[in-house]
Amino acid sequence: MPPSNLENSPGLLLRGGTVVDPSQDLNRVCDVSICGGSISAVGDGLPVEGRRVLDVSGRYVFPGLVDLHAHICWGFTDIGLVPDDVCPSTGVTAIVDAGSSSWPSQEAFRRNVAEPSRTRVFGFSNISSVGIPTAGTPELASLRFVDVDRSVTAVAGNRDLMTGIKVRQGRHLVGDNGVEPTRLAVEAAEQLGVPVMVHVGNTPCPLGGIMDLLRPGDIITHAYHGHPHGILDDHRAIWEDVIEGRSRGILMDVGHGAGSFSFDVAKAAFERGFFPDAISTDLYTVNVNGPVFDLPTTMSKMLNLGMPLTDIVESTTTIPAAAIGRTELGTLRPGASADVAVFVKEEGEFEFTDSHGERRIWPRRLACEMTLLDGEIVFDRERSARPSLDVNNGENA
Ligand SMILES: [Zn+2]
Repeated sequence: MPPSNLENSPGLLLRGGTVVDPSQDLNRVCDVSICGGSISAVGDGLPVEGRRVLDVSGRYVFPGLVDLHAHICWGFTDIGLVPDDVCPSTGVTAIVDAGSSSWPSQEAFRRNVAEPSRTRVFGFSNISSVGIPTAGTPELASLRFVDVDRSVTAVAGNRDLMTGIKVRQGRHLVGDNGVEPTRLAVEAAEQLGVPVMVHVGNTPCPLGGIMDLLRPGDIITHAYHGHPHGILDDHRAIWEDVIEGRSRGILMDVGHGAGSFSFDVAKAAFERGFFPDAISTDLYTVNVNGPVFDLPTTMSKMLNLGMPLTDIVESTTTIPAAAIGRTELGTLRPGASADVAVFVKEEGEFEFTDSHGERRIWPRRLACEMTLLDGEIVFDRERSARPSLDVNNGENA
């Protein structure tokens, strides 16, 4: 992208959109004014003062989205996507890699991924030194791959980039090690004062047994996976100990992925008001052409499953930003960096597919029209040569 001179730029005025910003309890039509790369004001009838005016009436104005779980370690893993290829066109201004790298690969993550990216990049460090070179690599089959001290040292020296510890607790990934990997991940995170993100699905024990090991602010990802040991009991109600763990402050994250989101599970949970805290994609090379596609498609699934729009925005802005300790992101508060996502809610017949190959035709979808990063337009759907996002074109992974 071309260099810019933000200090001398006249700024922008986004006029007449419906501004949804949970950090300010906002959900109404008003203007957003941008100057010098930051939000300068949010309110009614803001003056032009030489700014370029963009008419966004009939559109939603959200804070730039934060995708809490994706895989972007391209070049040194098989699953990594290039952040700037997938984020600007989808309203995502900050993306978090969920454990593709670990302490031996942290410098590669910084130099090859974070530094060249225009999109804001963060990461969870895998408690296994192996990281996640391929989706199926059993990186915790041996605990010899875990070095808590080196993990702590590496993350402590890179806190601008690394925001937590990741552990994949699937039975096929941990071998005979039970929940010891999660216990070790918590031990490292406790020393660092950062959250643990636990991948669940086909875990060696029920979910409650894993949540018992976790602390407030830790994250369960793949919460609606549809495999054994999920959130639902035999009566399709939420397990009591899962409700209890969540009430202690453990966050439930979608982490859709190629194998980890079930419409049936989400429907049953949503009917009981069990909506996710965070909506993330688990986007990687195998699912970017379906069934995940991107964050707006994942948000559209939540919308059609009955999650209120304001909650969807909170789950893709304020909550994931707070989860990684970056409360300066995911907000349109004056003074914040002008990371903005302009969205439209489209009506029609749209096909969606979950990770189990279940298809649904639903009447609504959310699509990104424009993305601003530090006050600069990095995506404009109208001017884009790329075809508009179309969930009907994808094949199931
Ligand atoms: Zn993942």
